[in-house]
Amino acid sequence: MTLLNTDFTAAAAAEFEQTVALRRAIHADPEVGLHCNRTTAKLKAALDGLPLEIRDSTSTSGFVAILRGAQPGRTVLLRGDMDALPIQEETGLPFASQVAGQMHACGHDTHSAMLASAARILCAQQASLQGTIVFMFQPGEEGYHGARFMIEDGLLDDPAPEAAFALHIWPTLPGGVVTSRPGPLLASTDSLNAIIRGEGGHAAMPYDTVDPLPVACEAVLAAQTFIARRTPFFDPAVLSVTSLHAGSAYNIVPDTVELKGTLRTLTDERRMQGRAAFDRIMTQVAAAHDCSAEVRIDEGYPATRNDPRAVTLVEEIATDLFGAGTYSEMPNPIMGGEDFAYVLQKVPGAMAFLGVAAPGENAAHRPTLHNSRMIVHEDWLQRGVALHCAFATRFLARGWE
Ligand SMILES: [Zn+2]
Ligand SMILES: [Zn+2]
Repeated sequence: MTLLNTDFTAAAAAEFEQTVALRRAIHADPEVGLHCNRTTAKLKAALDGLPLEIRDSTSTSGFVAILRGAQPGRTVLLRGDMDALPIQEETGLPFASQVAGQMHACGHDTHSAMLASAARILCAQQASLQGTIVFMFQPGEEGYHGARFMIEDGLLDDPAPEAAFALHIWPTLPGGVVTSRPGPLLASTDSLNAIIRGEGGHAAMPYDTVDPLPVACEAVLAAQTFIARRTPFFDPAVLSVTSLHAGSAYNIVPDTVELKGTLRTLTDERRMQGRAAFDRIMTQVAAAHDCSAEVRIDEGYPATRNDPRAVTLVEEIATDLFGAGTYSEMPNPIMGGEDFAYVLQKVPGAMAFLGVAAPGENAAHRPTLHNSRMIVHEDWLQRGVALHCAFATRFLARGWE
């Protein structure tokens, strides 16, 4: 017999001390990027002795842990990321980061610890499980494409998951609330770069120069105007120029201006339109003023799209486990990005968000993700553990029914 949902909340409660201990150990010792070897070691130690088949990623420190139930059946994937951010922690917590300039400010310490606890609970159910659970522990979510590398390593090929689930904490949601939405959840994230070249010289004699600085300003306005006026409101795009660098003195016209920015979209059509517009506007506005432009677009994550069936399943289990009103559907996507998008390109599934504010706390005013004072009320991690367990077992039992 598979544990009932209510038993998953009890099992997560019994597991709570271990969840918190592992989370705090990872939190105190953060690592950035694709090679989070100390974190991988902590996670593998937490899974040691369990009936799991561990397969390592060859291009990252990530790994999958495979639990095969006593009976064959469907395959489901649960994912937790493990990397931190290059931010100096300012929470003042007793288990704050011991690594200067690095912090788990996106909650990936909680994600991997919750997933490890779910693995321990589900391993205890092996004898009654029908099907296979793949626990995906991945580094390099913060812009390093860790999920894509693990997929390219073949870690999702055999067994091939038929459903996937990931949870992300969300500090400004009320505590314990679970939220998601069908279809587009998060945006694609391309990085924009341009160098506009003119001809520098004396600032008192601009006619003897080709001043690239007003040209860059014009190009920024043109690019942002294009996105504002040519993007349908119903299929949004965001283009933000976030960095503009030129010059060194009061009396020198610079040779070049460098600018950087980000393009966020929810569909391929809008993404291609935005990329082409940035390239064209930088190049042609520069050319109109006798300048030249060197444009480079670094491909980021695709948009994260939830399968409606998986969102229905999340709503159902959140309501069953924690009561009516626990789940609320997001009214709109968020234009942030996530590399779980790569998993969802391959496997139908869903990402959901979990509120981690303290009971009674005004969640709207809490420090957000990527803030140096971001704090998690750890009691809610039990909900994340139970959600993982219930998503996996319900999918194995019923598929997409
Ligand atoms: Zn993040
Ligand atoms: Zn994150």
